[in-house]
Amino acid sequence: MRISGGMGRRDLENMEKRFSRTLNRGLGPSRLFVGGVHGKESQTTIHALKKFSEKYIKSGKLFLQNFPVSTYISTLERRYYDTNTGREILDLLKKIQPSIYLELHCYHPQNHFQLTHEDRKKEIGVPALVELDKGVLMGSISPIIRSVFFKKYDFPFILEMPCESFDDSLEVYLKVMEMAASSEDRFSILKKLEDDYPSAADKLRRYFVDFSDNFLILFEKTKGYALKNDSVDLEDLELFTEDLNGELDLNLNKIQLKQVREAVLIFLKA
Ligand SMILES: [Zn+2]
Repeated sequence: MRISGGMGRRDLENMEKRFSRTLNRGLGPSRLFVGGVHGKESQTTIHALKKFSEKYIKSGKLFLQNFPVSTYISTLERRYYDTNTGREILDLLKKIQPSIYLELHCYHPQNHFQLTHEDRKKEIGVPALVELDKGVLMGSISPIIRSVFFKKYDFPFILEMPCESFDDSLEVYLKVMEMAASSEDRFSILKKLEDDYPSAADKLRRYFVDFSDNFLILFEKTKGYALKNDSVDLEDLELFTEDLNGELDLNLNKIQLKQVREAVLIFLKA
């Protein structure tokens, strides 16, 4: 049988990977878990989203969403948020305003070192991802959306597991999803993580101290500056962020200053 409307086998496979579910347990926090963020990750994250047991959610709301296969662009790049999936994620963040957000990703084993080594701050302006157990990694979401859509003490995190041969990892991955779904706030999720993965939780706390206040202060000031000045261009923002970074001794590197400006541009468009 021919499939009409120009739909090929691949289109159908992609549609299958799109999955969404809303669980409403009344008053409580809004939570959003998204998978299939870029590339072929949806083929892996769909397993976690479909296996996730809703019995853990006792209050508030949880939105689960898996996006179809798309081009691979890193979420650290602003142009990611111009892609279809990137735009859909921004729309969901605006609509749902989650205080608990998990971005489900997967990685190829050859990239493990790149994701977890300590020089990431210098090279790409973000902290290393931290290994919990069985190849499951956790870390902060992209700084260019972190400060736009979340408060300092919200819980926006990335979860990673191997894209293939993930049978062992899936259990740990699902456990973290359940911790986030069954908790009301950042503090109780971190407490649960600390009970099971003390050294990883400790590292996450240290990175949080290193990466939150200085970035947030500059983001808020730059946002205020951009809102006050209609005709502000990228060059103005560049000068503003560089001057203030020095003046306030915030110690952000060049890459982080660029991330602050990109976060402000996303805020202005959102
Ligand atoms: Zn990814």
